[in-house]
Amino acid sequence: MPKKSLKKPLKKCCMCTRRPVFSIKTVYCRFCSYFSARISNERFPPGVREKLVDYVRRYDFTCAYTGMPLDVFDYKSPRFLEFDHVTPGDPYDVVITSSWVNEMKADQTFKEFRRSIRRLYLNFMKGIKIKNIKLAHWFRLCPPLISKRKSLHLP
Ligand SMILES: [Zn+2]
Repeated sequence: MPKKSLKKPLKKCCMCTRRPVFSIKTVYCRFCSYFSARISNERFPPGVREKLVDYVRRYDFTCAYTGMPLDVFDYKSPRFLEFDHVTPGDPYDVVITSSWVNEMKADQTFKEFRRSIRRLYLNFMKGIKIKNIKLAHWFRLCPPLISKRKSLHLP
């Protein structure tokens, strides 16, 4: 019987350039191994997982909106890595971002989010009042089902 060839441990993680976990089987460093486990647990539609891996390969673990470095392990940290749907409700458009940016963005599209931040800035720095905010995906206080019923004049 032919002997099984033993694989040499890799010198680099296959997703980033860090040192891989000390094991023959693993191809990831501890960051990427945790990240890869998380993206396979999230049940993303096909293609999204590859897109996220590609993003990490290019930009490492940084926020897609702000570019700040993310915390991969500590879920209590405000910089903890989270997945965000750029357009709320669109399962194919997913990026990684920090916990607090995700919390601030909430149910807004990226364009709306940028506009709100700008409005807040103008309000804080120059005292310009904020008026008439209409958000396309914000249904927290009034779910779409109820608003549809009201518009159809149903009891
Ligand atoms: Zn890695």
